[in-house]
Parts: sequence; C-alpha cells; structure tokens
Amino acid sequence: MTDTGCLPVVIVGAGFSGLGMAIELKRAGRYDFVVLEKAEEVGGTWWENTYPGCGCDIRSLLYSYSFEPKHDWSRMFAGQGEILDYLKGCADRYELWPYIRFGVEVTGVEFDDATESWQVFTADGETYPARAVVAGMGPLHQPRYPEIPGLERFRGTTFHSAQWDHGYDLAGKRVVVIGTGASAIQFVPRIADRVDHLTVFQRTPPWIVPQPDRRLSAAEHRLFRRFPSLQRAYRHLIYWEQEAMGLGFTRPRLIRSAQALARRHIRRQIPDPELRRKLTPDYTLGCKRVLVSSDYYPALTRPDVDLVTEPIAEVREHAVVTRDGTEYPVDAIIFGTGFHVTDKFDSAHIVGRNGYKIQDAWRDGMEAYLGVAVAGFPNLFLLLGPNSGLGHNSMVFMIEAQTRYILQCLETLDRSGGRSIEVRPDVQSTFNRRIQGRLKSAVWSAGGCVSWYLDENGVNRTIWPGSTVGYWLRTRRLRRGDYTYSHRP
Ligand code: NAP
Repeated sequence: MTDTGCLPVVIVGAGFSGLGMAIELKRAGRYDFVVLEKAEEVGGTWWENTYPGCGCDIRSLLYSYSFEPKHDWSRMFAGQGEILDYLKGCADRYELWPYIRFGVEVTGVEFDDATESWQVFTADGETYPARAVVAGMGPLHQPRYPEIPGLERFRGTTFHSAQWDHGYDLAGKRVVVIGTGASAIQFVPRIADRVDHLTVFQRTPPWIVPQPDRRLSAAEHRLFRRFPSLQRAYRHLIYWEQEAMGLGFTRPRLIRSAQALARRHIRRQIPDPELRRKLTPDYTLGCKRVLVSSDYYPALTRPDVDLVTEPIAEVREHAVVTRDGTEYPVDAIIFGTGFHVTDKFDSAHIVGRNGYKIQDAWRDGMEAYLGVAVAGFPNLFLLLGPNSGLGHNSMVFMIEAQTRYILQCLETLDRSGGRSIEVRPDVQSTFNRRIQGRLKSAVWSAGGCVSWYLDENGVNRTIWPGSTVGYWLRTRRLRRGDYTYSHRP
C-alpha cells in the first residue's frame, strides 16, 4: 500500500456515470471512495431534466446497466421518472447512500506534485484530498442559452428545457419554443394542447424516424422475471439493431434507405406540402443526432401551432421578432437550445502535474486517450470524455466499458506499488491522430450540417468513430505500456 493508498477515490457526480463507477468499485471489493454530488438526489441528467415528455430514445432494456436488469419496465422507451427510480434502486441495492455527499459542488481539482494526490475543492470551501479523481459530470450538463439581441428586455417568463419551471402555468399562454433538438421534440407534443398558442422556431430541421414505443405487458414482465436469459437475449437483439444503425452511418446506401424511411415518416404525418418542405432536412442523415418520435410531427399540424423557420432578429418586451420584421407576441419563451459541450471546460479549474492547466492541454481542442485519460493529469479519469460519445447506441454501454477500464487502471497502479498512473503523451496523440483521421470523412463532418459534435474549428471532439464493440475491445484489457507509473518515495 502506498501513502496515497489511504486516500479515497473521489467520484464527481451521481448520475449513470458516477453511480456506475461506484458500483464497479464496490463489486471489486473496494470501499475507498466517496461520491460528491451537487444536487440533493442521485440521477444526474435524469434528475435534472424534468420537462414534460422527458424520456430516453434508446429502449430501456438496453439503456440500463448490463449487470442490473429491470424486468418490469413499463414501456419500451421509459420516461424520466422511471429511469430516475431505476437509478435510485441501484443506489439502494448496492448500498451506495453512505458513500454519497449531496449538495457538494466541486469547483476545481489540483494535483499536488509532492504527494502525488489530488485536492478537490468544493463551493462550500471544503477540500477533499483524493488519491484519484473520476469525473462523471456528464457531457450534456450546462444549459446553453442563445444570444439573441434584446433578450434581457423580455418581460415574460423564460426557462431552459433542462431547468423546467413547473410553477409556471402554461395554460392559456402564448408560448415560443426555440430549438428543435432531442429535448424540444419530446416536450412540444406535451405542451401543444395546454397552451393558447405555440410558435416553434426551427433553425435546422432534424431527421426524425418513427418511435416504436409500446407498453410492456404483464406477461412480458413475468417472462423476463422467470427467464432472465430471455431478457438478456432481447437486450442483445436491441444492442445489435442499434449497432447496425451506427454501421449504417458509414455506408451511403444504408443512409439513403434510412433517409427514405424518415421522408416517408414526414409524408405520412404532415399533409401540408409547405410544412413538409420546412421539415425536410437538406443534410445527410446521421450528421446530427437522429431523433426518434411519432408524436412531434402531428403536434406541428395543430391549428394553434406554428413552425417558423425565419431567423430570429431580436426579442422585445412582449414579442419575438424575426428578420423579415414579423412580430410574434409571446408570454413565455422556452429554450430547447441544448448544452455547452465542446466548450464546457473553458473555465474549469483542473490543474495537473507541474501546474499544467486543462486549458493549456486542450489549447487546440479537447482530447483524451479512449475518452478517459489525459496526459499531464495523473490519476484523473473522465467518464464520457472527449470522443467517447455515441449518436446511435446506449451511452450506458460506453460508461460500463470505461468504469471497468478505470478499475483496471487503479488495480494496475496498486500492483505496481506506484503513486500515480499517467497516459503517455505519444500514446494519446497517436490515438487521436487515428480517430481524427477516421472522423474527417465521416458523416458528422462531411454530412453538410453544423452540430455540437464539432468544436469551433469544425473538429469532432465528441463522437467515437468506430463500433461500440471496437471500443469495448480496446478497453477490455489495459495495455500497461500505454501508461507511465510514478514511484516517487
Ligand atoms: P440539441 O440537440 O443541441 O438541440 C438544440 C436545438 O436548439 C437545435 O435545434 C438548435 O438548432 C437550436 N438552437 C441552438 N441555438 C440556437 C439559436 N441561437 N437560435 C435558434 N436555434 C438554436 O439540444 P437538446 O435537444 O437539449 O438535446 C441535447 C442532447 O441531449 C441530444 O442530442 C441528446 O444527446 C441528449 N438528449 C437525449 C435524449 C434522449 O432521449 N436520449 C433526450 C433529450 C436530449 P441547430 O440544429 O440549428 O443548431
């Protein structure tokens, strides 16, 4: 055991990632960790996002931990509340509550070169010494508000989809929604029949495919309970279906057939040719996240709902004004404008070895090794870090691969008797050169769209370019030689 061995591993965040890491440690018989969570509850994104209609567009039999199947999901695509309950159930089952400190917001982390350990600073002025830090804050966490001239003058109510104001009664109000991404297409159908009038401002139409949602029957629940292997087989089937979709992103012929399916979806649900035209994307499917919904288009056909594609010029006290001068009187504006993703570390206080700041490391764009480790930042591990996101499959699969990998890093460090483990800079840069080589010609860059997958230089810093099987294979066994180990006395 080393000096730092008696310090805990600090996990930041108690969402799918942080809880997954905590469970992985406990399952390995390691109890030397603490989870710091700024909210008063577990769940992360599934605690924070409570907008009407919030749910997962990956089927729940797959969007759950592989080692913790739930046999009685109420629907194919579970809603936010049920996913949150699932995560609370996991915290119960693995007895994680004593390890979690709620209401503790991490404001920064610094590596101490002398002791080769981390100092974790929190908003209430406390410092947690840590042997290692696992950052599980989630990639889609900081709400992004649009910069629209005059927004500060607006006298009505505004809120972001991730900070839904449930105290505000939308009934009888004139409501504007800005944005038509994954969140907006879920809440627009749920509020359309409550408001007096809804105006949806669309900048870029998303590709949307039908959502094959349905209730799971009591008989299915019984079957899954009695025959867990059946549920596992179903999960595998869904996994391979999703994986095939990812493969499709690299095959133009498959993309064309998926586009044909999505166009048919528009034709079936939108009778008005002008509305159809507005809703039909002009970029390649897959370039932005493909959305899944069967009730968004019908909501737009309501007489009290308008879809506006003219860009917004300004906001006045009681109206949104478009570039052509049309004024839309409004009581409330809801932002479905997404999150800071590639710029979210711009002001983060993460200081590694020899005072090396994350902003210096990522001057040319954020990068990591396998999305997990960053050279210059020993014993710091990211969950869902750069280029480990997916557009086609369950992020929980990636989280599990990463938590297993991080556990191996910690175990290897213990076995080596060392104090710190750090990815070699040459290994990290070779890895990133390779994946960027693959990404350059992939649909996310070459598909003719702008998305949050790309940074301000147009470089994809978010997506894993290969199959998830490929990622699993890469992370299954730690290559010892990819890292250096410090044995400072
Ligand atoms: P998003 O996908 O980033 O969509 C943001 C929307 O706001 C886009 O339509 C964007 O238009 C628009 N927008 C942004 N800034 C704007 C501006 N200044 N003026 C006008 N329009 C603007 O955000 P999101 O819908 O919150 O979803 C974020 C991510 O969360 C998703 O991609 C997904 O990964 C995740 N999510 C997942 C689920 C799920 O079911 N699994 C559900 C919700 C969210 P442009 O397209 O033109 O940029």
